[in-house]
Amino acid sequence: MCRHLGWLGTPRSLAELMLEPAHGLLVQSYAPRRQRHGLMNADGWGAGFFDGAVPRRWRSAAPLWGDASFASVAPALSSHCVVAAVRSATVGMPVEPSATAPFTDGRWLLSHNGVVDRGVLPTCAGAESVCDSAVLAATIFARGMAALGATVIEVGVADPAARLNILAGDGSRLLATTWGDTLSMLHGNDGVVLASEPYDDDPRWVDIPDRHLVEVTAGSVTVTPLEGTS
Ligand code: GLN
Repeated sequence: MCRHLGWLGTPRSLAELMLEPAHGLLVQSYAPRRQRHGLMNADGWGAGFFDGAVPRRWRSAAPLWGDASFASVAPALSSHCVVAAVRSATVGMPVEPSATAPFTDGRWLLSHNGVVDRGVLPTCAGAESVCDSAVLAATIFARGMAALGATVIEVGVADPAARLNILAGDGSRLLATTWGDTLSMLHGNDGVVLASEPYDDDPRWVDIPDRHLVEVTAGSVTVTPLEGTS
């Protein structure tokens, strides 16, 4: 189970979001506090961010803690909308940059915490990798982000053992689901963070209940149960 993080707000650097917090993605790569599946996230990392309306990505199949180049450049990369992750590969999945979140359809950046039986997913020609998360991302993109909740419910019914925490951003919105793993939210003065686990001990972090859909825009946050499953 990987760990992911999303930001929507005033521009913040990737270093501020990923590397500097006391329990941010950098520390979560070797010492996550709330991870239920897997001990560490050493199988790669991805930083996705919007440059205006353009999604850009930097992904690696190596541990985040060893990447001195990223640590050097991250303070200079700032964005109003970020989707980043550290990865603990599911057994049998390839360890390669293209299997590492965030995935993209050119408009959205999307990360998946969890596991899914690829046998219940349609064959998606657009998948970036054979990794379950990449195939799931292609399925979600093909169905359309407006159907994210419905797609998660459908896949969750088809594979009852699946864990389907999704986090996605398009530059003006963040969408997230909880389905089998943790997600927390920090609603600050200058924006909203969604993260698999709190990156510090700020008392304003709130836990999102399981089987919910979160939508964050510049002016609002909505948290709704995934229909028929709560
Ligand atoms: N199943 C995905 C992978 O192998 C995600 C794993 C995870 O959430 N740890 O990359």
